[in-house]
Amino acid sequence: MDFQNTREFAQQLDAQDKLHHYKNEFIFPQVNGRKVIYFTGNSLGLQPKRTKAYIDEVMDDWAKLAVEGHFYAEKPWWDYHERFAEPLSKIVGALPSEVTVMNTLTVNLHLLMVSFYRPTEKKYKILCESKAFPSDQYMFESQVKFHGFNPDDAIVEIHRREGEHNIRLEDILAKIEEIGEELALVLIGGVNYYTGQVFDIKKITEAGHKVGAYVGWDLAHAAGNIKLDLHDWEVDFAAWCSYKYMNSGPGNASGCFIHEIHHDNYELNRFSGWWGQNKERRFLMEPKFSPEKGANGWQISNLPVLTLAPYLASVEMFDEVGMNALIEKRNQITAYLEFILHEIDKEVESTFEIITPKNQEERASQLSVFLHGEGRELFDYLMKNGVITDWREPNVIRLAPVPFYCSFEDMYEFGQILKAGIQAP
Ligand SMILES: *Cc1c(COP(=O)(O)O)cnc(C)c1O
Repeated sequence: MDFQNTREFAQQLDAQDKLHHYKNEFIFPQVNGRKVIYFTGNSLGLQPKRTKAYIDEVMDDWAKLAVEGHFYAEKPWWDYHERFAEPLSKIVGALPSEVTVMNTLTVNLHLLMVSFYRPTEKKYKILCESKAFPSDQYMFESQVKFHGFNPDDAIVEIHRREGEHNIRLEDILAKIEEIGEELALVLIGGVNYYTGQVFDIKKITEAGHKVGAYVGWDLAHAAGNIKLDLHDWEVDFAAWCSYKYMNSGPGNASGCFIHEIHHDNYELNRFSGWWGQNKERRFLMEPKFSPEKGANGWQISNLPVLTLAPYLASVEMFDEVGMNALIEKRNQITAYLEFILHEIDKEVESTFEIITPKNQEERASQLSVFLHGEGRELFDYLMKNGVITDWREPNVIRLAPVPFYCSFEDMYEFGQILKAGIQAP
């Protein structure tokens, strides 16, 4: 499509956008009495207006029923997590039995590594991307040490080539082959948090399996953002947080995927707790653990229902819209933002370098941009003028035009504010 850098054109795209009215389903912070242009849904999604009712419902049930709420609440608390199975499995391309919600992301990855990182003297290496999200790096190091291995030897990072911003698929595949039999686990972020690069989960998973490794994914920036087919891709396990693209609120509960092929494998270690116990027998308080079938068998504790409630509100909203519609708009609005950036680039002295891949297959709802010749003052200017973005030193901004609540007119408006910010004395 031929884009134009005009307000009229942006408004026309909004008029054709089937998701445009969803903007009204979210609460925006205000700056100078106007709703902000929100580019940080990859960090903390906006609050859906309907979320409060889901939390109030639990509060009311607690007030009226107290302990009886476990079984007699409108949505009983004891199996509240089962409400996620259908809608969440559609978001990540899984069978309902393969997903569950619990804990938080890094905690879940640690727990899944208990099952899927079982190093032996000959097979102990972990493959990850260089500059992985810090929490993942700390996790790998502590896991490797916990098992008595040396992180410098056991953790293998795939690097970007000199002068390139993204990691090449061919380099990942070659590295997997090179490590071969020694490779115990591949665990990579499905979408890189810094560059927005989307990895080929299917091909990488296949390659890992070929050398006998387990393959898991940190889907923090992928869940609710890209098309996932975790079941068909035969991913062993995955986990994601729900507060980024999934709009569930700060630090909220994480989702997990465990492939069906592992459900009956009781050889896999699990750190167990009573919520993983077979639900028919859970309250018999018997000493022997015989887990629930499926991913729910990895549950540990009594559910944190007050944190699951906002996540449920969000998951039901995704179900209403469907990933396909979100992805269609995502591609168009990201392309429009890219166009706007190039247009503004021509009008100002600074130069922009978009480090996110150009190829639509390798990117999603994020453009990371080097603003050469600009500094922190520009970021402050944007924030003061109602553009919420994320600044990384020295001069990278990450822009995530989230299809649920960003409009094409926002992209146009952002371009104008950016230009004024650069030209400001
Ligand atoms: C956001 C993010 C996390 C955050 O982990 P928490 O345990 O939820 O704090 C982890 N990994 C990646 C790749 C992330 O982007």
